[in-house]
Amino acid sequence: MMQYFEWNLPNDGNFWNQLKEDAEHLSDIGVTSVWIPPAYKADEQQDEGYATYDLFDLGEFDQKGTVRTKYGTKQELIDAITELHKYQISVYLDAVMNHKAGGEYTEKFQAVEVDPNNREKKISDPYEIEAYTGYNFPGRDNKYSDFKWHWFHFDGTDYNAANQKKAIYRILGEGKNWSQGVDDENGNYDYLMFNDLDLNHPEVVKELCKWGIWVSNELSLDGMRLDAIKHMDDIFIKQFLDAVRSDRGANFYAVGEYWKNDFDSLEEYLKYTDYSLNLFDVPLHYKMFEAAQKGRDFDLTNLPDDTLVTRFPENAVTFVDNHDSQHGSSLESQVKSWFKPLAYGLILLMEKGYPCIFYGDYYRMGDQESPHRIIIDILLEARKKYAYGKQNNYFDHPNTVGFTREGDDIREDSGLAFLMSNGEDGDKVMYVGDAHKGETWHEITGSISEEVTIGEDGNALFKVHGGKVAVWVKKETNS
Ligand code: CA
Repeated sequence: MMQYFEWNLPNDGNFWNQLKEDAEHLSDIGVTSVWIPPAYKADEQQDEGYATYDLFDLGEFDQKGTVRTKYGTKQELIDAITELHKYQISVYLDAVMNHKAGGEYTEKFQAVEVDPNNREKKISDPYEIEAYTGYNFPGRDNKYSDFKWHWFHFDGTDYNAANQKKAIYRILGEGKNWSQGVDDENGNYDYLMFNDLDLNHPEVVKELCKWGIWVSNELSLDGMRLDAIKHMDDIFIKQFLDAVRSDRGANFYAVGEYWKNDFDSLEEYLKYTDYSLNLFDVPLHYKMFEAAQKGRDFDLTNLPDDTLVTRFPENAVTFVDNHDSQHGSSLESQVKSWFKPLAYGLILLMEKGYPCIFYGDYYRMGDQESPHRIIIDILLEARKKYAYGKQNNYFDHPNTVGFTREGDDIREDSGLAFLMSNGEDGDKVMYVGDAHKGETWHEITGSISEEVTIGEDGNALFKVHGGKVAVWVKKETNS
């Protein structure tokens, strides 16, 4: 998978065109799916799409002062997806259903202020506030949906227009409360930003399920990346996926963003949602972030522990960085540059997990070209040609760890040995399989020029330079 966007893309409306032109190249390098950014109208043109205004406006209507989104028009998006599908590349849309921004008019209703650090705790008496919770979408004029949003479709907001006061307001109404199926950080983490959708309101659930089915058909989507799910009722997530899959098929893919560096929370979430979606392996990301910070003081034998890919490999999307972890973003925890080749080697060559490459690491962030494209290309090529068969792990030394893949019978030259070091130069005897005895292997990232011969017992001594990655494969002999 490639996360095909980053946080600092230009607001030139040319991004869907760029994606279309890139489809063949993505296929060539072995990308089989792309996660595209929120493709619907936000509260302003330059927004990345997370300040969602109208889910049904995919860059088609003159709303918020623009027809196109930051990324282009609906037709350009459809053209890009058509091109991606020509190369059998699946498309996953980023779905923002936790909150809505850019309300058109104010409404008056009862609310209480809550403690930002404990949202279960009221810090005011109930009183009337006036907030931008009214949405008619006049530019769309009821096309695709005639649903109008009102204050009672939300359970929280953050601005009282009557006195210009910012706070977290819990909206009061019969049976209304924060959702219970959310993360328990800050007492109850239902509220994140803007107008928080009340996912326990039947009209809201119905409208979102309707949208999910509509947008999946309209764009021929193969799946979704579900934004901010730790702030959303887990029962709703199941309802939503059931609804979309009943229309699009059981294989409709879903990966959720449950951003928490805590394996137990992710495990619990998978259980509550019947393992019906994948999750990003946030614990692995934070391990790689920490490893890159600490250098040789990080014990690499711990790297796989309590990560999703180790414990729930079928549900793990492994990644190094994303638009939220990159420098300047809300959850900043960008993996340091020296460690990125090691990190990408790990996620791209290991047997388990569904690896996701970040646009910013492959292409650029802002106008800063990525220095990692060459190594990622090498690793992608290695994934395609060699990364098959049984994995043997050697997470047995604090500063030099690795694994082998034994290869399979279908791909004659498959099999590899992977090593990473965060300290001195290292070496390790590793088993690559009896089938490889007598073969000459070489290192393909360019850091080591000598060759090794696989012994009669299927073992060889593989080397890695300090602070580097090494990938050893069988040397082609015939040319
Ligand atoms: Ca919420």
